[in-house]
Amino acid sequence: MEAQDTLNTIASEVCICKNCTLHHSRKNSVPGEGPAHAKIMFIGEGPGVNENEQGRPFVGAAGKLLEDLFSKAGLIRKDVFICNVVKCRPPGNRDPLPDEILACGKYLNRQIDAINPEVIVTLGRFSMAKFLPGAKISTIHGKATNMDGRLVVAMFHPAAALHQPGLKPAIEQDFSNLPRILKLHNNQPEEKSVQTSTEIKSYPQLVKEKEAKTEDPKQMTFF
Ligand code: URA
Ligand code: SF4
Repeated sequence: MEAQDTLNTIASEVCICKNCTLHHSRKNSVPGEGPAHAKIMFIGEGPGVNENEQGRPFVGAAGKLLEDLFSKAGLIRKDVFICNVVKCRPPGNRDPLPDEILACGKYLNRQIDAINPEVIVTLGRFSMAKFLPGAKISTIHGKATNMDGRLVVAMFHPAAALHQPGLKPAIEQDFSNLPRILKLHNNQPEEKSVQTSTEIKSYPQLVKEKEAKTEDPKQMTFF
């Protein structure tokens, strides 16, 4: 099946899905949106009140900030795929529960397989935990981790930057670095001078370095 057909099928399944209790409180499910062959996929947490109304991801205040951040990375919204770990709004914007993330993860996994992006950017801790279980956002944000030939970059959630303005410079810096990370991944020779300033590490390598730096045995375990 073509990637676009697969995404359409997933979206139509998500619209009527009752695989977890979140279907009780949704007005509209939010499957996600963007080109089927997007090179970059942004994965947030779950729909909020505006997303629940409109059936589209990141259309509220966090979405406005996300669009500003895209411009820092030379990206425009319509060129990237945007979705969430859960496709229906948790009531009162509570955190999604593990069984909800697990149930909805089947859709997310199929979206990732269909789009096959070069880079996945996780927004917030639930999305990060899917790919980098046990990682700490304060340590890992903005760093690229190679996973099965694809890069995973964990970022702070834009809503976190709205609530804690002190995080804004870090999230802006991380978005500004994205083009370099992409170019490095594509191994473009003309970017050699830039490449040396951007590190792409494998996750085990990051864990090893973290272990070497810390005396605290609790911090040594990422998994
Ligand atoms: N926050 C998210 O994580 N996702 C959205 O779609 C909107 C806000
Ligand atoms: Fe189905 Fe996901 Fe909505 Fe739960 S959150 S009802 S698994 S689409």
